[in-house]
Amino acid sequence: MTHDYKSRTNLVHGGTRRSQYNEVSEAIFLTQGFVYDTAEQAQARFVKAGEDEFIYARYGNPTVAMFEDRIAMLEGAEDAFACASGMAAVNGALMSVLNAGDHVVAGRALFGSCLYILDEILPRFGVHVTLVDGKDLDQWRAAITDQTKVVFFESVSNPGLEVVDIQSVAEIAHAHGAMVIVDNVFATPVFSRAIEQGADIVTYSATKHIDGQGRALGGVILGKRDVIRGPVETYMKHTGGSMSPFTAWIMLKGLETIDLRVRAQTASAEKIAEALQGHPKITKVSYPGHPSHPQFDLVARQMGKGGTIITFEVAGGEAAAFAFMNKLDIIVISNNLGDAKSIATHPATTTHQRLPQDQKDMLGITPGLIRLSVGLEDEQDLIGDILNALS
Ligand SMILES: *Cc1c(COP(=O)(O)O)cnc(C)c1O
Repeated sequence: MTHDYKSRTNLVHGGTRRSQYNEVSEAIFLTQGFVYDTAEQAQARFVKAGEDEFIYARYGNPTVAMFEDRIAMLEGAEDAFACASGMAAVNGALMSVLNAGDHVVAGRALFGSCLYILDEILPRFGVHVTLVDGKDLDQWRAAITDQTKVVFFESVSNPGLEVVDIQSVAEIAHAHGAMVIVDNVFATPVFSRAIEQGADIVTYSATKHIDGQGRALGGVILGKRDVIRGPVETYMKHTGGSMSPFTAWIMLKGLETIDLRVRAQTASAEKIAEALQGHPKITKVSYPGHPSHPQFDLVARQMGKGGTIITFEVAGGEAAAFAFMNKLDIIVISNNLGDAKSIATHPATTTHQRLPQDQKDMLGITPGLIRLSVGLEDEQDLIGDILNALS
């Protein structure tokens, strides 16, 4: 496309590559490789593949390239590399730029698998990791030094909904020459402005809002072209974490509707968070888009909206939380998020089960805590389902 169109137009048309048949819907190039006209052409392509020249699906594929171009347009990034899962993206972003002896500073409020990479895997390869309270800029200032190569955090943490000030942390990091990698799943690519706020690399689990319909695992790494087509592509294509063409097609179709879905889910989340305020059986409600959230002003500045996830604490601990979940009729018990179907999760016994108690306490993962991913159902039905299950 030749014009600078707005986001919702790009989400429908961006990155489209049509074959000789001029199909309307994006084709699934379900092929592992590509045929060369001559041996000389094969040789030339291995030396340097051009923009629309492909070699092997682990390196790139037309359907995957369409997804990469479309998500890069949405994020406002120069380029993207599509990955097999969100964790392939987080691991790839970190491993592609780190070396033994490097120092990483990370926000401590992390998704379990992200914490595992920082706490267990990177130290095995001689990378030193310092964890800080991501809400506290003084802790970032104290931890980031000229030896720091990478700063990593979840912009909105899972499940604590703690928000890291991307712009301020990026300023501190860049003053020391460190690169900023942001796991931006909870912010969603619809509300993210992480690149203009200073993130050098942004990762998403496409499994969440990008698919948004619970069908496939996927992930993506976004950033400047020299980083994405340099160290990131080199690491990913040789270590095998690339996205499959079929998954890329699912994610492309997810992107067509992501803006509508995420905005509708967010509007419902706002209403549900409001409806739960002051409920006698709920001791605490946390929603980044509600004025009661301690970082509400930062959320308004950084994302504009609060996203699709609410957490709340049911009075009576684990037994009460389980009784509540078992009484839900519409909302399903599962552990995905960003889905069209509303999902209730009990982090303390599932996604964050293995965290030691002191870390659970620190991150607010209490026995009564429920994480609610608000879906596309009618919001009055959802509020009714929650109130009924609480009664
Ligand atoms: C789900 C999630 C991931 C991992 O994504 P997968 O697609 O499950 O590999 C990473 N970070 C955050 C914040 C997540 O919510």
